Amino acid sequence: MEINPDIAVLVVDDEQDIRDASERILTRTGFKVMKATRGDEALDVLDKERIDIVLLDLKMPGMDGLEVLKRIRMLSKTIQVIVITGYATVETAIEAMKQGAYDFIPKPFEPDQLRIVVNRAWEKIHFIQEAKRLEQERNRTLSDLDTEKSRIRTIIESFPSGVVVTDPKGRVMLMNPAFRQLLGLDKNVKTGNRIEDYLPDEDLCQLVLEISQGKHVDYDDIPNYEFSLPDEKYFMARGQPILGEKKECLGAVLNIVDISAMKLLDHLKSEFVAKVSHELRSPLSTIHEQLALVIKDMVGEDFAQDQHILDRAREKTKGLISLIGDLLDLSRIEEGIICQEPQSLRLEEILKNIIEFLRTSAQKKNQSLTLVLPQDELPELTADPIALESIFGNLVTNAINYTQEGGEIIVTVDMAGINVRVKVKDNGFGIADKYLNKIFDRFYRVKDDKTRYITGTGLGLPIVKGLLDSMGGFIEVESEPGKGSVFTVLLPVKN
Ligand code: ADP
Repeated sequence: MEINPDIAVLVVDDEQDIRDASERILTRTGFKVMKATRGDEALDVLDKERIDIVLLDLKMPGMDGLEVLKRIRMLSKTIQVIVITGYATVETAIEAMKQGAYDFIPKPFEPDQLRIVVNRAWEKIHFIQEAKRLEQERNRTLSDLDTEKSRIRTIIESFPSGVVVTDPKGRVMLMNPAFRQLLGLDKNVKTGNRIEDYLPDEDLCQLVLEISQGKHVDYDDIPNYEFSLPDEKYFMARGQPILGEKKECLGAVLNIVDISAMKLLDHLKSEFVAKVSHELRSPLSTIHEQLALVIKDMVGEDFAQDQHILDRAREKTKGLISLIGDLLDLSRIEEGIICQEPQSLRLEEILKNIIEFLRTSAQKKNQSLTLVLPQDELPELTADPIALESIFGNLVTNAINYTQEGGEIIVTVDMAGINVRVKVKDNGFGIADKYLNKIFDRFYRVKDDKTRYITGTGLGLPIVKGLLDSMGGFIEVESEPGKGSVFTVLLPVKN
């Protein structure tokens, strides 16, 4: 270990030879050396200078070595004292060690002997300093951690959304004031119980438990969960596992946001759309019909131009009427007023009728439109026939619209477990991956070179999805641009 040149050694001895020899040897080794001939002189130096090691002769005139040692110990605990002693006073040396001297060296000594003892003392000082430094560092890290912990706690506490953390057994470890407030819990309610004691929604509690136990590792697989409390309170919850260093699951964190205001707005908007659509529908239908009468009366070459204009106006009114129809359907679905009267029905019959009805549109584009039914008869479904017509009417119309001339559309029906499965497959334009989860949003239409000129409202698929949701059904889509799309619908047999 390299000697630190700041380490100061004080040699206290009444013999000049010893003082000078020690000074020479230690200076050469790299220490800073000071000298004193007597005890009181030594204490004087210690008073004024920073000394690390004292070489102390025990037998001196005036104040004796042991007394000096006692005073040094009172002065500082870190100064290392090495006593110098003649053979005759080994006993005293032992006594000195008992009183806190670090080591002793008998007189006369060889330079190497002196070097070894002083070096050992210096090593001890070094280790003491190092230990002190480590302890300070440890304290600092601990206090950093403490600050970090309290900072995170403050952030969580001040979140406007509710946060609750559970352990792998689903016990609540932490919850913030917003969580208590949103769920109407007492503000002094304690953590520690199972999540069910705080959260009055069984399915959500089950989901939190599964996340806590590490059953949902992929964040994207965890669904958003909506739930409500009596008195018109709606919440959106999102859970996430808390993973440890080795990716082991330590619990779950659940974030809860109050969406009551959004729900209310949504409701008002649906109501508003329904009202406006209702008001617009009758005058528009009248205009549409009256245009037909005017066009019928316009015969002859002179009217050819006017008739063309009116034909286009009639087409536009037709488009508007269908848009209004869609808007009304959608607001009814959102208000839950559809599917009120399910009845026993045969899906095959409904599909046959739809295919026959849409065959003309497909033929206009030279497309083949085929229905493939299973060999075994399908069980009867309990559902609203109008809803089913709307679902498959929309899907087959889309397949026709978004497939080129001469394309192929196949509707297949089979059983998938307890559900009836209907696939509407086309070999048309297809949909790029990035649009796949958007096409079920209201008014969303993919606008590229192929679809730009096809008229539509962007309400068909949201209606389909809304209807299926309310019937306990399911829809998914697979598609490849340039190859075609498959919309798969699952319908529960018993509703
Ligand atoms: P609309 O057909 O009135 O535009 P939809 O909600 O029915 O509205 O469909 C939304 C969008 O999804 C369409 O604009 C279209 O871009 C795309 N789409 C729907 N069905 C198909 C399909 N079978 N093939 C390719 N694209 C489709």
